[in-house]
Parts: sequence; C-alpha cells; structure tokens
Amino acid sequence: MDIKQDVTIQSWDGTWTYRPKVLVTPTSVEDLIEIMTGEVRFPSPVRPAGSMHSTARMNGDDGGTMVDMKAMNRILLFGEETVTVEAGATYIVVSNALKERGLQFHVTTEIGNVTLAAMACAATKDSSFPGGYGQISSYVIGVRLVAPDGEVRTITERENPDEMQLIRSSYGLFGIIFEVTIKVRRTTALSVRHYSMGLPEFRKRFPVFKAQGYAVMYYIFPYARRVLVELRKDNPDVEPKSRRRWTYRNRFWRKYGPAIALWIRRRTANRTLRSLGDQLHFFILRQGLIRVVRSDATWPHAQIINYPRDPGRNRYLFSMWAFREASFFKILDDYCDFCADYEKETGYRCDLPSVGYSIVQDRQALLSYSWDGGTLSIDPASTGGKEWEAFLRVYNDFCSARGGAPLLNQTPFLTSAQVKKAFGERLAIFADARALADRHDRLLDSYFRELLTDA
Ligand SMILES: Cc1cc2nc3c(=O)[nH]c(=O)nc-3n(C[C@H](O)[C@H](O)[C@H](O)COP(=O)(O)OP(=O)(O)OC[C@H]3O[C@@H](n4cnc5c(N)ncnc54)[C@H](O)[C@@H]3O)c2cc1C
Repeated sequence: MDIKQDVTIQSWDGTWTYRPKVLVTPTSVEDLIEIMTGEVRFPSPVRPAGSMHSTARMNGDDGGTMVDMKAMNRILLFGEETVTVEAGATYIVVSNALKERGLQFHVTTEIGNVTLAAMACAATKDSSFPGGYGQISSYVIGVRLVAPDGEVRTITERENPDEMQLIRSSYGLFGIIFEVTIKVRRTTALSVRHYSMGLPEFRKRFPVFKAQGYAVMYYIFPYARRVLVELRKDNPDVEPKSRRRWTYRNRFWRKYGPAIALWIRRRTANRTLRSLGDQLHFFILRQGLIRVVRSDATWPHAQIINYPRDPGRNRYLFSMWAFREASFFKILDDYCDFCADYEKETGYRCDLPSVGYSIVQDRQALLSYSWDGGTLSIDPASTGGKEWEAFLRVYNDFCSARGGAPLLNQTPFLTSAQVKKAFGERLAIFADARALADRHDRLLDSYFRELLTDA
C-alpha cells in the first residue's frame, strides 16, 4: 500500500483542506486490517475517503489517518439482479459496465464520480420512481467491512436487517467498507419531459404528476418564483436510443452553468444588471431543457455525469434539506421570500438555480430524511465563495426552524442542535450503536463528535 506522511489534500473542488498525518491507499483487505490495528503508524481518527465529493467537511481530522479507497475499485461479480464491487469503484464506471450487460442501477444520480462504498453508507439520491426508493443506499443488500478492532465482517440485509439499517447511514463510523452488493435491474428506456411553471401551478400539479407515476425532480428559480419540473418515467414499450438529450443537460451542470454564472458575476458590478443577466441565463436554460431534453427513449445510464476532479472555478456546489410533503409548498414560498430578503440585506444571491427531489418514504437507513413520510427537498446551488458559506449558515437556521431534515454529508455547517432536532430519538440510537461498535473511537472524527454531542 502507498503511504504518505504529512500531506495536504483538498476535497474535489478545493472547499475543504485536510492535513492528515498519514494518507494511505490500501489495495487489499489485509492492508485495511493493518491500518485499523496499527494505532501508532496510523493515528486516530482513521477516516475512509471516497472521491471526496461530499459538500460537508467529513473526510477526517488534521493529524489523523485518511484512507483513500479509490485503488480498491474492481467489479467482482455480476448477478441477475445484483452487482458486487469493491468499495472504491465509481458509479459511472459500474453503470457503464451494467449497460453492456443490459442492466442498470435502480437510482441514476447525476453525479457519477462517487464511490459505491460512500453511496452505501452516506445517502445519495435522485427523485424516486413510484414503488421504488430515491436513496441509493436503500438498494444495498450487503457489505463487507473491516471493523474498528480489525475484524472482517459481512453484513447482509437477509441476515442482519437492523445492522444494515445502521450501515446505510454509517458514514464510515462503523468500519471501513471494502465490498458492496447492490440490487440492479434490466435496462428500461426512460422518458423525460420538462415543464416550466409558477409556484401555485406546481403545488396544484404535483399530486397529478405523482398519480401519473412520474419521478419528480425540479429546478427552483427563487428570484423569479418559478420552477422547471423534470418528469421521468420508465418506458418499457420501446428500446432506449437517445444519449444526447442527457449529454446537453450534463454539460450545463458540469461546465456551462457555473461558467456562465461566473461570467455574469464578473461582468456586472451593478445589482440590477446582474439580476437581468441571471434572468436571461435562466430563461434560456429553461427553454433549452424544455425543448431539447425531451424524449421517450433515453438511456437511463446517460443521466450520470462525470464531474472533473479539478473543476477550477467552474464549480457546482450545493446544500440540501428535505421537508415533508404536507408543508413543502408553503416552505417553498417562504424560501423564495428568504432568498429575496437575504439579497436585499446582504447583496448576495445564489448564482445557480436551486434544485429539489421528491423522495418517497424510506426506512431502509436509520438517518433517512424521509423516515416519517415522503419528502421534497430544497437544495440551493452556487459557484461558491465565502458569501455562499455565510448564506448556507442562515439557510440552515431557516430550514431547521421549519422542521427540515438534512443529509450529514451534503449539508455543510450543521450544528448539533439542528441535527438533534431533525433526527431526535434516531440520533440517540445511532450514537449508542456507534459507541458500541467503536469503543475506542478509532473512526470518530471531530465533525461527527460535535454532531453527536447532544444525541
Ligand atoms: C458536483 C456534485 C454533484 C453531486 N450530485 C449529487 C447527486 O446528484 N445526488 C446526490 O445524492 N449527491 C450528489 N452529490 C453528493 C455526493 O454524491 C455525496 O456526497 C457522496 O457521498 C460522495 O461520495 P464520495 O465517494 O465522494 O465520498 P466521500 O465524500 O469521500 O465520503 C462520504 C462519506 O462516506 C464515507 N466513506 C467513503 N468511503 C468509505 C468506505 N470505503 N467505507 C466506509 N465509509 C466510507 C466517508 O468517510 C464519508 O463519511 C454531488 C456532489 C457534487 C460535488
């Protein structure tokens, strides 16, 4: 295994800087056991890292050990309805391999560079199809891991359903996962449509979209008080044939959206001009998506985006909070007011559209954000900067006050009080189980220590 001392390493976009005492890249289970049991060579906390695409700072403490799992990335076994891979295999690589075999993942997220182990233990999502889940970890039916005491453990849905529920929101606190088995299905063509509408119309039509069997995702334009709704549905009557439709959308997220937003920001010192620039940008975006990203027969795999490792300034950053369906539309209204008021007070406006996902009730993971019922999320997005970070702290208060649930790896700047309020009793169960699984806090870093303090 490769071992480096006293390195400085950044998350994918440079938001977070880590200075681990040891950065180690294991290539085998034996390496992982050596790391876990070698407390002098590999100082605590030991934190596994995937692609480091989480928007919260959660890949370890300065002075500890960061375990880069990306070298353990083989695909081990294709089954009829499952695939088994090593922890560091990325979603896009496995998705492409599934495609060659006439298979696909149940959930096709936008991001493709993330690793399967991170997806297994830190919820990653896309809008839910009726009858399915939206959180990828819910389709994980087995993991193998090295526990904090160095023991190799196999945990499966069939043998250990309660433990699987913990593992699906374990964030590397219960052991380092080296193998993941996830359910897959036969490839089915995906139809997609986009519709632009005001908030009242969205509220009225949302139950209809659901009744019609659509998976509902949406872009929110808070300053224009509009949404662009993306509707997806399986279309088993045709063969998939279109990749391109998604390629256009993906290019927007990966590059052109952030690049245009930054260009507008640089060129327009005047607030009114900047607002006009944004309005034009987003109007063209909406029209483009409505007219171009529409087809009855897209490849589901083509939705997945390969984000560059070093995006330079063209970064797409976001945060996320989910709300119960019954209160969502009022909160969406409040959110638009919140963004407008925040701009009036501080001059700051998010330079990319917010997004959101409709996610069905899901109790597969203990810290699921749709535990009590279906949720819809509001995920502000931006090209980043200090003002964005200040905005997110206030946004966290806004959401927490309205009963929202965050995602511990995708909602930066959370406080322990907000996490406690969101997860209540489940956080206490999680904290107790963690303490039992890792009695000497080998894997516990300051991020989780702080968030679990009041649990
Ligand atoms: C541009 C961009 C787009 C995104 N799009 C989406 C999207 O469409 N949908 C969505 O849901 N999310 C999205 N995300 C968020 C991202 O998918 C998640 O944060 C994901 O968990 C990151 O995976 P990773 O491999 O980078 O893991 P990391 O960020 O490196 O780690 C995440 C957590 O998993 C733990 N972990 C990693 N490997 C292991 C292991 N082997 N064993 C145990 N624990 C481990 C880490 O310790 C950490 O707690 C996006 C992020 C970015 C930056």
